[in-house]
Amino acid sequence: MTTIFDKIVNREIPADIIFEDDDIIAFNDINPQAPVHILIVPKKRIKTLNDISIEDEQLVGRMFIVAKFLANKTNISESGYRTIFNCNDDGGQTVNHIHLHLLGGRPLNWPPG
Ligand code: 5GP
Repeated sequence: MTTIFDKIVNREIPADIIFEDDDIIAFNDINPQAPVHILIVPKKRIKTLNDISIEDEQLVGRMFIVAKFLANKTNISESGYRTIFNCNDDGGQTVNHIHLHLLGGRPLNWPPG
């Protein structure tokens, strides 16, 4: 089933896109929870983290390389940041297309709520 993120990839709805290559797109979250809140999304539609397979190993790994690159680009590398995959209801996942949250620019509480 297509999600809002497919529509962003296909330019059917607008987003503040800050990185894109053949496999990955990254854009600012519409409801930011921190001064930097970027979503790093594979173009391949994978519903949840439960659905990744060994063939996705490089893709998921590259999502973290992109996170590192964007943390540097947004000047939060040294102050610090958090990367999060939410999975299913208890994890707080609301869009069924895996995405890595990159959050920073303020101290983040731990444990999360
Ligand atoms: P989840 O809760 O699934 O881990 O994260 C989904 C994220 O997508 C949320 O942080 C939410 O604010 C963001 N989001 C939902 N719809 C849109 C949209 O249309 N555009 C953008 N840029 N972000 C969205």
